[in-house]
Amino acid sequence: MIVFKIIYWAGIVMQVVILMPFAKAARSKPKAASRVSLTENILLWLMTVVGLVIPLIYSVTPWLGFADYNLPAWMGWLGGVVLAGSLVVFARGHADLKTNWSPSLEIRQDHTLVTNGIYGYIRHPMYASQMLFNFAQILLLQNWLAGPPAVAFFIPFFLLRSRAEEKMMLDTFGSQYREYMKKVGGLFPKF
Ligand code: SAH
Repeated sequence: MIVFKIIYWAGIVMQVVILMPFAKAARSKPKAASRVSLTENILLWLMTVVGLVIPLIYSVTPWLGFADYNLPAWMGWLGGVVLAGSLVVFARGHADLKTNWSPSLEIRQDHTLVTNGIYGYIRHPMYASQMLFNFAQILLLQNWLAGPPAVAFFIPFFLLRSRAEEKMMLDTFGSQYREYMKKVGGLFPKF
């Protein structure tokens, strides 16, 4: 259904709208350290292909029709709900991280450790939000090439990125971050 494709693209636009002011602010803030690996960049590039390029081809051409699958309508709508939830988490994460946000692994000169707001429940709300977004994609873009591959690339990206990020945070904030890791879960809250 076309409405599900529209919901997907509205979600992408919303992500950009949420992210833009933070990306702009991040450019003007001096960095103290940056740790970006080649593997991570390759995975980010692949995620752009499966998150934007293939979905665009699927949405505007009939070329990928051979790989379509059909889910019941309620599952498409559920995808819309999951997508909306992911945007709420995404917005909350940005609002709480403020100027400590960066598109890649970076520490700012005046970096502070954020443990309040949504970061008081999970350490990786933005990655959790992207994971939800990619699950919604499976329900909204009902095509084997445009839907499911995104989550398959996101999982190795998350494992690699979160490990490197946590090492960087431990090197920077030491026992403060170690204590935070003990109390607060990564993608899911600890009960
Ligand atoms: N993993 C987090 C943040 C992603 S943005 C999330 O999923 O929401 C990536 C940058 O955020 C990293 O370069 C790191 O410098 C910064 N960061 C991650 N966790 C942080 C925290 N608790 N406090 C302050 N900065 C943090």
